[in-house]
Amino acid sequence: MRHLHSWDDFDRFRKVPAGVDPAWAEHIGRPLSAVPDPWECHDSWAEHFKAPLRAALAEMGIEMEEVSQTEQYRAGAYTEQVLHAIRHRDVIEEVLAKHRTKKADTVVENEQEAAALADSVADEDEEAQTGTGSLARFPYKPYCRQCGRDTVEVTAYDDDSTDLSYTCASCDFTGVTNVATQHEGKLVWKVDWPMRWSFEGVDFEPGGLDHSTPGSSYTVGKELVKRVFDFRAPSYVAYAFVGFAGVQKMSSSAGGVPTAADALKILEAPILRWLYARRQPKQAFNIDFGVEVVRLYDEWDALGRKAADPDRHDAQTLAFERASATATAGTLPTPAVVVPFRVLSSVADVTAGSAELISRTVGHVGYEHASVDDLEPRLTRAMSWMADFVPAEDRTTVRTAPTPSGSRRSRNGSGSGSACCWTACPPSSTSSRSRPSSTASRSSPTACLWTQTPPTRSRPTRRPSSRCSTTCWSTPTAVPGCPR
Ligand SMILES: [Zn+2]
Ligand SMILES: [Zn+2]
Repeated sequence: MRHLHSWDDFDRFRKVPAGVDPAWAEHIGRPLSAVPDPWECHDSWAEHFKAPLRAALAEMGIEMEEVSQTEQYRAGAYTEQVLHAIRHRDVIEEVLAKHRTKKADTVVENEQEAAALADSVADEDEEAQTGTGSLARFPYKPYCRQCGRDTVEVTAYDDDSTDLSYTCASCDFTGVTNVATQHEGKLVWKVDWPMRWSFEGVDFEPGGLDHSTPGSSYTVGKELVKRVFDFRAPSYVAYAFVGFAGVQKMSSSAGGVPTAADALKILEAPILRWLYARRQPKQAFNIDFGVEVVRLYDEWDALGRKAADPDRHDAQTLAFERASATATAGTLPTPAVVVPFRVLSSVADVTAGSAELISRTVGHVGYEHASVDDLEPRLTRAMSWMADFVPAEDRTTVRTAPTPSGSRRSRNGSGSGSACCWTACPPSSTSSRSRPSSTASRSSPTACLWTQTPPTRSRPTRRPSSRCSTTCWSTPTAVPGCPR
């Protein structure tokens, strides 16, 4: 089996996303591989987004053969298929025209999904006319030789010589490209996709719902691949929208939309795989960067304990196994010593310290381990989550001096913003004023992460109370053994 991953880096740059210099509008219409990287860390826009996804997929044990559409088209790999499509452009238009009338809108569930759909290439061809008259629906479009944009109008095509004449609306360039020899353009999307199915002999390909409604790319492609390219369409699974939630502070590089790489900063790779593996592809879900992360880790750890017991194997543990390992990559990294994420993140919060300090602290509260490495890859994620995804006002400020006696402060109570707490107490002394967290106590009776509920008045906050209950709320004067 081969897993082909096709990068559509020869597609046009369609719009400037939020957060990017508006001057990039200059590049609209150019191939993504020809648009400069606004962050100046890669050779092109396309590479800037390919690199982190490639790394994230590798981290999740996903092996693939990459195919760059820029390289394929520029090298003339598809020339024979392109010429074939052009020769059969009447059949193509007949099919496209038939499906145009059957077009159904995708039902949109929420704003994120609407934005994603608006960004989809699924129906791009409907708006774009390639020329006028008989050339209005020409299946191939060159990028302008002078300005590099696809804002061209096909004005003539000679079937014998394969010379294609065009004018550019952006720069007024008028030119001729020879389709057989010059490789300056690409097939329009709805023809491009089925062409590649036949070129690569694709057996299976999943796609977003935007590609699967009547009249959209897959339904059209399915007919085109048969009638034009003499090949059968691949088996197809439509997957639902994957959104995100709990993002209050993001340093994502474009438009604030989290990427797989962002998710891997806070989720162990098997957990991110599990979010997909435990659901049907048609089931929409969110990846939550907020307080849900803590609950998700708890659920995952509980499932891990269940999976370790051969008598309890079921569909859930099967999903766990699929998430944990792949046939080629083997078992993906998980911590040698499993400390609940809520413990690690709480300790990371109150110590605001180094990995070594956190390691020492969780060691004191009952999670014995030989080195910091035993806590990875979870420790780094707990630290990243606290630093990058939990808003500053929800984090703990550790005071250098004790709170004045009598003024019992908490972040929710006094509103002073100077709450101080400390999580660990000596294993033997369970304070009567606080109780160990239920999670910690189950796995380690001596652990004493204090989970006293924040006193009284909860402010009107975006933050659900669930995180409060995972964090300690004692004042430093009440707690022995605070290292500060
Ligand atoms: Zn870059
Ligand atoms: Zn031009």
